[in-house]
Formats: sequence, C-alpha cells, structure tokens
Amino acid sequence: MGTEVNIIVVGKSRTMIRSAVQAGFREISRIEDIMSAYKPDSELCLLNKAGEYESSRELLYVIDEASHTSELSDGAFDITCKPLINLWHNAKKTNEVPDTQNILDTLSLVGYRNILIKNNNVKFNKAGMKIDLGALAKGYAVDMAMNLIKNYDIKGALIDAGGDIRAIGKREDGKLWEIGIKHPRERNRIIGLINLENSAVATSGDYERFFMLNGKKYSHIIDPRTGYPVDNQIVSVSVFFSDCLTCDSLATAITVLGEKRGIELIEKLKGIEALIINIKDGNLNLIKSSGLANFKPVFGL
Ligand code: ADP
Ligand code: MG
Repeated sequence: MGTEVNIIVVGKSRTMIRSAVQAGFREISRIEDIMSAYKPDSELCLLNKAGEYESSRELLYVIDEASHTSELSDGAFDITCKPLINLWHNAKKTNEVPDTQNILDTLSLVGYRNILIKNNNVKFNKAGMKIDLGALAKGYAVDMAMNLIKNYDIKGALIDAGGDIRAIGKREDGKLWEIGIKHPRERNRIIGLINLENSAVATSGDYERFFMLNGKKYSHIIDPRTGYPVDNQIVSVSVFFSDCLTCDSLATAITVLGEKRGIELIEKLKGIEALIINIKDGNLNLIKSSGLANFKPVFGL
C-alpha cells in the first residue's frame, strides 16, 4: 500500500494478542494482493492491463463505493483519474509540465460512469482507461483487518495505516483511544486530540506526499474536472466516521472540492464529521463541521 501499518491490540493473553495482530497483517496483505498498484498480478493491475476482468466481490465492492463517492462529490472524486496520475508522474520525470492538449486528451479517458459492471465482470468503456484505488483501498484494508481482529477475545485495538486509523474498545489504561491531529507545517507537533469510540478517521494532507516540478510544489491529488493537480488553499482534511473506507474516500474528495463545498457535503451526510485546515495569506485556519464545533486546537495552529 506504499505505507507503514501499525496494529496495537490490548488484551489479557499474549498468545491471543499475537494471533489477533497476525490476523490483521495477513488480512492487509490479502487486500494488497487484490488492490495493489505495485503488484503486477493484483486484480487491479490485471483489470487495468486488459480493460476487462472477472473481478472478486471485494474489488467490485470497492469500485462501487468509489462510484458512490464520485456521485456525492459531483465527480471531484474519481478513481478513473489514473491516466492523469501517470501523465503527471511522467512530467515529474522529465521535469516538464504537460501541454494543454496532452492534458485534454488524457482527460477524455477519465469518467467513472465509463466503468461498466455486469455481474462480476468489470469493463472499461474506453480503451486506455485505468483505475487507481490509492484514495480508498487503505481505508478498506483497515476496515477488513479490524473486522477480523474484533473477533478475538481482546479489550481494544487500533490500526493505523499511514493516517488511516480505526479503533475499537479501550486502551490499556481503560480510556478511549485518542488520536492526534498533526500540525500540517511542523513535524512532530499535533494541534489537538480527538477520541475515537469504535470509529475511524482518515487524513489527506499536502505535506506527506507531493511532488516538485520546475521548482513548484504539486499535490498528489488530481482534480478530475480540470486534469491538473489540485491547487487550492486546502492543507489537510480529516474525516471521522464509523468506517475507514468512507473516511478515506471523503478526505480525498473534500481536498478536491475545497472547504466551502467540502463542508456543505459533510453537513449533508449523517454521522460524518470533518476538520479542514486551509491556508490564506500565509495563515492557517481551522474549519470544523458542526459535530466537531467543540474541538479546540489546544496545542495551537
Ligand atoms: P494518501 O495516500 O496521501 O493518504 P489519499 O487518500 O488522499 O492519500 O489518496 C490520494 C491518492 O488517490 C493519490 O495518490 C492517487 O493515487 C489517487 N487520486 C488522486 N486524485 C484522485 C481523485 N480526484 N479521485 C480519486 N483518487 C485520486
Ligand atoms: Mg483518501
């Protein structure tokens, strides 16, 4: 998945804890075998290569969830943006911004409505289409691993896949799990803490993964409506909900939508909350959804 995964399990028996952690990691590897963009024989890569594939239920499920987020976000979230990601990836190698025509041609391959699904068959409607699950597969893997871990006789567990986090039960000291919201500009600093009660959070930020081209910083998130990397004032988006897949995909979607439309979307979705940090005139600002109105950046922004 291109990230580090940490699993913490709290329980009485060492053997039980070990088995639970191992089951979690095994599950994450299993999902990786299906959805990895790096393993040439993953289902995802086979689909991208052939343009058509008899897919597992799980890959179908994730594609379906992605389409749902595309609908919710009016196309700001779109897993078919892979050809654009490749275009910008190559641009990074040659250190030249792609020309407008090239971007427009590539953009014509993008559109989640062109993923056709019939029973288990997934087919791309246009030759050259490709999908990328980088925006939500990690969240799905965390959910699946937690589903297995919670069957063990344990007191609590937390899985963290590079900021995609899900927690159940309690910590060793009997308190709720608490996660820190990273300061987006200062390493090793957090702005505040939030409890997770059998729930999840995912963060998309401009500080962990980005690329440089001609001396300019570009986001690794693409705006599928323009073909260009996202270039707005969003610095980070953290989304809170019961499952991590939803958090992961919405965090990416809101990064593209920007804070105004992003918060509007969150307010429409029951039980989902978000913390957005943007930058205006060099100043960082915190935007909170209504359910997090009481959150205070106690360690400063
Ligand atoms: P991170 O890996 O930093 O947690 P995200 O969850 O925000 O990142 O997902 C970013 C990844 O999603 C990108 O690296 C790319 O693979 C893919 N992606 C980029 N733009 C979009 C988009 N508009 N819609 C869906 N997926 C995207
Ligand atoms: Mg995401």
